Amino acid sequence: MQTPAGRLSPQPWMIAPETRAVLAALDRGGADARFVGGCVRDSWLGRPVKDIDIATHAPPDAVMRMLEDGGVRAIPTGIAHGTVTAVVDRKHYEITTLRRDVESFGRHARVEFTDDWKEDAARRDFTMNALSCTPDGLVYDPFGGLADMAAGRVRFVGDARQRIREDVLRLLRFFRFHAHYGRGAPDDAAMAACRELAPLLPTLSGERVHSEIFRLLTSEDPGHVWRLMQADGVMEFLLPDAVDAARLDRMVALQHALGEGADPLLRLAATLDTERAGALTVAEDLRLSNAERDRLCAIVEPKAAVSLADDAPARRRVLYRVGNAEVYRDLVRMAAVTAPGPVALDAVKAALATADELESLRFPLAGRDVLDLGVKPGPHIGTLLRQVEAWWIGQDFRPGREECLGELRGRIALLPPP
Ligand code: ATP
Ligand code: MG
Repeated sequence: MQTPAGRLSPQPWMIAPETRAVLAALDRGGADARFVGGCVRDSWLGRPVKDIDIATHAPPDAVMRMLEDGGVRAIPTGIAHGTVTAVVDRKHYEITTLRRDVESFGRHARVEFTDDWKEDAARRDFTMNALSCTPDGLVYDPFGGLADMAAGRVRFVGDARQRIREDVLRLLRFFRFHAHYGRGAPDDAAMAACRELAPLLPTLSGERVHSEIFRLLTSEDPGHVWRLMQADGVMEFLLPDAVDAARLDRMVALQHALGEGADPLLRLAATLDTERAGALTVAEDLRLSNAERDRLCAIVEPKAAVSLADDAPARRRVLYRVGNAEVYRDLVRMAAVTAPGPVALDAVKAALATADELESLRFPLAGRDVLDLGVKPGPHIGTLLRQVEAWWIGQDFRPGREECLGELRGRIALLPPP
């Protein structure tokens, strides 16, 4: 029997009525339950808690019954590998039966249920993720996770090489957790294992890589971790075109300065030294959504060149050619991080604000108007429209419908007689 290594003061999420209802149902059924994983780690560090994971001795079918008896909705999310989801109001709790690995092969390791807390902790990836905490706040720390957290050290439970061989995703999780929880130099043993096993990365599914990389990119300073991954030869097996860590730094700084939230896709775009074909490869490798893929392509292959030196009319012309306010804003941000010298934040803000004008830049004529003036259908309809549109753009989009019609009439009058 282990002794607790510390105590957590009652956290709001621990004493919330929803949490209490779940714990009471398990307690009434005689199940020993503890909080595990991220909620314990983040509470210890005083960081916000995202999701609450609970582990218990009780097998999943018993957990289902206990929850139902206690009036708590129970969903058999993954009965075979021991996970039940309890839902109270809108809060979700993943309740997983203690497990130990019998055989490890990637994501679908064969597991057996156990009643040994330390065995369950031993299958977890990092010492700081192997903590558990009783409902009254006693923290168990079988592998030195509290000391590692205090030192900003992300360390594997057990042998780094072996743990990565069991599940290659842990290699990426290592860099993701280092980005969010690490301080100073990363753990030597982990880095050596990552270097050696990086060639296994292409065996991972794109969805899993996507999730880890995007979470890494939302950290405070992803650029330094990106450099570590490049120096270690990890990136070449992951995203070989994502080479520009300096631009990533600048994008992070820019988003900070603008008070924008961390935008992982934009940050990824900043690292890319590629054109459309490369962007499509990245989109495929990371299983990006169609919207994300299109956004990336629009950034690496802009329809018009955004320059922060442009005056307002020139900005409007570029915006009109780009034709999409979101894409234009992305191009402005990219222009700011790819500029050869320092850029004034005010120039970036002015350019971003220009995007709001797109709605008002509507060319007031259509093909119908040319036909109504007696021109016979044919390719010159489009030519005439484009000529008037070019004139309208040259007038800084100011002429209204009547003036444009006047310009159109003038051009029709110049046409050779049919
Ligand atoms: P967060 O949700 O804040 O990113 P977390 O620690 O809760 O962090 P999850 O991915 O939700 O991360 O996983 C919950 C716990 O499950 C982890 O803390 C860890 O103990 C364990 N775990 C998750 N993925 C793995 C893995 N690939 N190998 C070993 N243990 C893992
Ligand atoms: Mg979690």
